[in-house]
Amino acid sequence: MFCIFSWTFQPPEEIIPYKDIDSVTDAGGVNILYAFGIETPPGWLRGNTHTHSNKSDCKSEPEEFFAHCKSMGYDFLVISDHISTEFPHWKSEPCHDLSDTDAGMLCIDGEEMTSTDNHTNGIGIDQNILPGTIQENLSAAVDTDPSGGISTIAHLNHPVSQSLLTVGNLSSLVDFKFMEICNAGTETGNAGADEALWKELLDEQKKIYGFASDDAHDLSEDAGRAWIMVKATSRTKEAILGAIDQGHFYATTGVMLNHCEVRNGKLSVDSINGEHIKFMGVDPQGPFSGDYTARSAEYNLDRNPYYVSAVITNDHDETAWCQPVFVNDMP
Ligand SMILES: [Zn+2]
Ligand SMILES: [Zn+2]
Repeated sequence: MFCIFSWTFQPPEEIIPYKDIDSVTDAGGVNILYAFGIETPPGWLRGNTHTHSNKSDCKSEPEEFFAHCKSMGYDFLVISDHISTEFPHWKSEPCHDLSDTDAGMLCIDGEEMTSTDNHTNGIGIDQNILPGTIQENLSAAVDTDPSGGISTIAHLNHPVSQSLLTVGNLSSLVDFKFMEICNAGTETGNAGADEALWKELLDEQKKIYGFASDDAHDLSEDAGRAWIMVKATSRTKEAILGAIDQGHFYATTGVMLNHCEVRNGKLSVDSINGEHIKFMGVDPQGPFSGDYTARSAEYNLDRNPYYVSAVITNDHDETAWCQPVFVNDMP
């Protein structure tokens, strides 16, 4: 089975050579080079939704993490300390007062509801939530404001790489819309497991958007490895969470995109430093995928897939995950 792709090669000289990025910074590591070396394309906000401080099990002050991420060019940071019945001295304190409006960087309140069988991030919440089952955590954290806006969201953290969750644990949940597909803090030795679960859920027509996060517990080593880029209309918590709720974001470990969106009936991907693009999804003939060596590519939605998503990688082990486009409901 074949899918028809139309795609656009870029002349090689337009691809940013890796050595040139190397030459503009001496930060000393591949991920850091990309983190510092490529400017955020217009309209995108860089943020991390999963970070810890010394209010739970990290040594650094929230102020230190915020300053560190600001220095790396982040636009927003969620400090999501653990709340756990096992460790009652842990707390998650509001961080929004750290926001630096002059620098254009927001701190958004959060919490990692830490149960024995699941860790779930509540983002934008204004009070601590005692952790429970996955469903209890999602229901407690997901709330829409009376005006119809999005005031909070919740994502499942490291669902396989630490919590060993399966499709069976997740398929009947209510308010389950977001999950980590790359947690840089827990994936050592289990790389790709969270992403594989996401794919399984998508193939079953579960409409789930994917996050990448640091799950940072150490200021110097953990921060800056995995994050999301959000296409928000303004630098406010409401605009950022609203854009995330609409799927207007992508997850990344260093591959940066100019765009990944539906244009003229196509899922169009244009990367800055990607080298390979893989489209995948399910259509009436079954699962499909196609790999291309290109910086930019398009998938024609007139193939009428149930869903299609794109993963962009480069030869430096960096990845960007576009959010899936859900085109038709499965019969
Ligand atoms: Zn966790
Ligand atoms: Zn965590």
